[in-house]
Amino acid sequence: MTQFDVDLFVIGAGSGGVRAARIAAGYGAKVMVAEEYRVGGTCVIRGCVPKKLMVYASRFADDFHDAAGFGWNVGEPTFDWATLIRNKDTEIDRLEGIYRANLEKAGVEILNSRAVIEDAHTVHILNTGARIRARYILVAVGAHPTMDPPIPGGELGITSNEVFHLETLPKRIMVVGGGYIAVEFAGVFAGLGSQVTLVHRGDKLLRGFDEDIRDALGEAYAQRGVNLALQKTLARLDKTADGIAATLSDGSVMTVDQVLVATGRRPNTKGLGLEKAGVTVDEVGAIPVDAYSQTLTPSIYAVGDVTNRANLTPIAIREGHAFADTVFGAKPTIVDHDLIPTAVFSTPEIGVIGCGENAARTIYGDVDVYRTTFRPMKATLSGGSERVLMKLIVDKASDKVVGVHIMGHDAGEMIQLAGVAVTMGATKADFDRTVAVHPTAAEELVTMRTPLVMKKPVAVG
Ligand code: NDP
Repeated sequence: MTQFDVDLFVIGAGSGGVRAARIAAGYGAKVMVAEEYRVGGTCVIRGCVPKKLMVYASRFADDFHDAAGFGWNVGEPTFDWATLIRNKDTEIDRLEGIYRANLEKAGVEILNSRAVIEDAHTVHILNTGARIRARYILVAVGAHPTMDPPIPGGELGITSNEVFHLETLPKRIMVVGGGYIAVEFAGVFAGLGSQVTLVHRGDKLLRGFDEDIRDALGEAYAQRGVNLALQKTLARLDKTADGIAATLSDGSVMTVDQVLVATGRRPNTKGLGLEKAGVTVDEVGAIPVDAYSQTLTPSIYAVGDVTNRANLTPIAIREGHAFADTVFGAKPTIVDHDLIPTAVFSTPEIGVIGCGENAARTIYGDVDVYRTTFRPMKATLSGGSERVLMKLIVDKASDKVVGVHIMGHDAGEMIQLAGVAVTMGATKADFDRTVAVHPTAAEELVTMRTPLVMKKPVAVG
């Protein structure tokens, strides 16, 4: 009789936890998973998946508008929020069912309860009081949206947790933040016809992205009617007869129906009992781990957003898989966090892999920059004013393409494929010898021939 009830106890059935549990079970491990909310985690239940469905919904407005130039008369379109939310919920239920079924098929036992750690090998199941002894514990509890620092009336605002369940489409919405979530939801609500004010403390959206992309997104959002309140923060919220009065740091007050605060997320480590097992967290509550996702307590590992490495679903999945390969498959595996293709589902969409121009200059020194902006073909007949931006950054010494930046329709799809080339170490010469697919927008990625001429810094003195 072994001293353990299970080989692996996973806390959290999100992207990372589910993948780790299934792969470990596939190696013959006895696995239990505890989930206090819904199986699927943030991505499936209240993140990437429902968000993308809402992004699709929001883009029909453009399609209806564009159709006229192609001879269609679609009449006056109307939108019903309740139908969207109901259909989205049905789909999320279906996906949750698939996640559950896949775990069960793999032989994983699912406990619908919060679980807390009691020591390096013991987990306490709160709704039954049971204590499970596990050879290994994997913490995959994810993160939650924050409203830090607290402001007076902050409880009147909502986060990305609640935004998927609003009863009505807000006529006026304020979105606070300039990161992925803020930018994506500002785009969703603008597309659905809400009056959107985007409040951000910085002078441009999407800090960390290439400056040309940041400029182009700001211009596109302004053109789409998003009211950009930059270099401002939210100071207080007050309920009024007409909605919520939002006071900004410059003293201006605006009345809206909803305030969505998207100023970042924090790891879900509070009250998890980590300290009882000798696992300490960093200043934001994240669990420090090594390249194999192992904590300083050898029997405890952590993957996904709770480790605050690269907070993206595909990375959590990879980390969970690598953990299972390493611990149960005798295949020590490290996840490379360096070259990560990513998309922002703003409208227009953004796709990026590698470094932006400024970062590339710092890292590589001498770089060539290829950039094009153009009106997409569809806009010629639709009369739309949207622009596409594409940019390649090339390390001059090696000719390697070290950054690809795209803003425009389907940028997410494009960057996935460009990402293969960049991950393989493609050079600009490889891009050049790739035959264009015509007529597409993506062909511009392989037809840019002349680098921008950079202004030389003026010598002083
Ligand atoms: P981000 O870290 O992307 O953005 C947070 C934003 O809030 C930043 O603009 C930041 O400003 C601002 N901010 C932070 N603190 C304050 C404050 N105290 N007052 C005012 N503004 C503040 O977080 P998100 O919540 O948007 O997203 C969380 C994570 O989820 C992201 O890191 C991303 O990895 C992931 N995600 C990925 C998606 C995708 O792949 N498409 C979609 C959605 C989320 P500043 O820039 O100045 O720091």
